[in-house]
Amino acid sequence: MLFKKYIIFFLTSAFVVLTSACLGNLCLANQSLQFSFHKLESDKKGPTILVVGGIQGDEPGGFNAASILATRYKITKGSLWIIPNLNFISIINRSRGVYGDLNRKFADIRSDDPDYHTVMEIKKVILNKKVDAILNLHDGSGFYRKKYIDDMYNPDRWGQSIIIDQEKINHPFGNLIETAKKVVEDVNLKIKLQEEKYSIHNTKTSDGNEEMAKTLTYFAIRNLKPAFGLEVSKNFLTYKRGYYHLLVIEAFLKILGVEFQKDFELSFSGVKDAINKDIQICLNSKILLDMEDARRQLRYIPFRKDKKIELNSRNPLFALVEYQGKYRVFYGNRDITYLYPQYFEYDEQGADSISIVIDGVEKTIHFGKMIEVKNHFIVKPIKNSRVNLIGFIGEEEKKDEANILIRKNDFIKKFSIDKSGLIYRIEVYKEEKFSGMVLVKFII
Ligand SMILES: [Zn+2]
Repeated sequence: MLFKKYIIFFLTSAFVVLTSACLGNLCLANQSLQFSFHKLESDKKGPTILVVGGIQGDEPGGFNAASILATRYKITKGSLWIIPNLNFISIINRSRGVYGDLNRKFADIRSDDPDYHTVMEIKKVILNKKVDAILNLHDGSGFYRKKYIDDMYNPDRWGQSIIIDQEKINHPFGNLIETAKKVVEDVNLKIKLQEEKYSIHNTKTSDGNEEMAKTLTYFAIRNLKPAFGLEVSKNFLTYKRGYYHLLVIEAFLKILGVEFQKDFELSFSGVKDAINKDIQICLNSKILLDMEDARRQLRYIPFRKDKKIELNSRNPLFALVEYQGKYRVFYGNRDITYLYPQYFEYDEQGADSISIVIDGVEKTIHFGKMIEVKNHFIVKPIKNSRVNLIGFIGEEEKKDEANILIRKNDFIKKFSIDKSGLIYRIEVYKEEKFSGMVLVKFII
């Protein structure tokens, strides 16, 4: 974690683990993936802005931008609340809405609708007294332009626009058109290509726009909460969409008086890296798996015999779904890998770390961590336990592989976690029980 002052909590469930056997067929009626809720707070008084990503599951620009916002920003004045994955089940299914369009369920919804709980929970957040403005992130088709230019640039397209339902509401931040104008002016200064510039789209919802009347933003407006729809063009690749969303969100924050810092560069490549690099999941606090360049299948992963799984990740877009005896790891719209479990009892009472001599320097390393090695490492022997280096080829078959100097070439490449053959597993067992795992990454 880069920023300590980062609070994450799940509204109803701590673990994003599903147990359906047939996700591909969408038969998840009784399962639900809860969205996560991140509060970035500061000591300095200021407004609270709520950002919602992933209301439609096939709009990765929005939910990736919101995920970056939740994990790479620090707020220094005011507050930023983020729900990056509102429609999580649809995100991992790459579907606009597994149970229909969630953004048409805010005028009314039946209590037996599978999205009912999600809609009720997000409404509560929107109506929270602290929330001063709401930004709802979308990826829309083409490029919205007030006048028809061609098939891609016209009033029926949505991309590269700030949506308002009406010009004003009665609220200190209620001059929606003024705020939108300032945002568009600010971001357009930073966009070189005329075709990619932003426009304002007033849907004039109260004049009888029935479709827009059912949306999240109009629910907010009806309740006198300033709300804006942010539309980035689907014509762009995901990282470019994420970049434009963040550019617009930063403009909103500045104009509304929320101050922030971030730990990456807001550029196309900076956002691309923020999405694709340094992504890891941790299982049961004992196993770290690097997902950046993961193989499509990872075998013999030591899962708990009682099948209880606790998934943790810094990134809120990860989900684990049981599938025909194995587990699929989803990262937003992408399924990254299959984990093939091998079930063990866990040594819960034992040590939670091991000593490893890394390039000549001895260090204590906790399970569920990754070490970086230039040349070689030696795992120090552990009393009553054995070390198992997955894929290690020793000169002789040894039960305990502690106290051996290991180099990269001592591993068989196909056993690595990553496709590049640089990351391997050190596992520790006490008799038949699994104690924990450390990853070793060779730096070349
Ligand atoms: Zn949308």
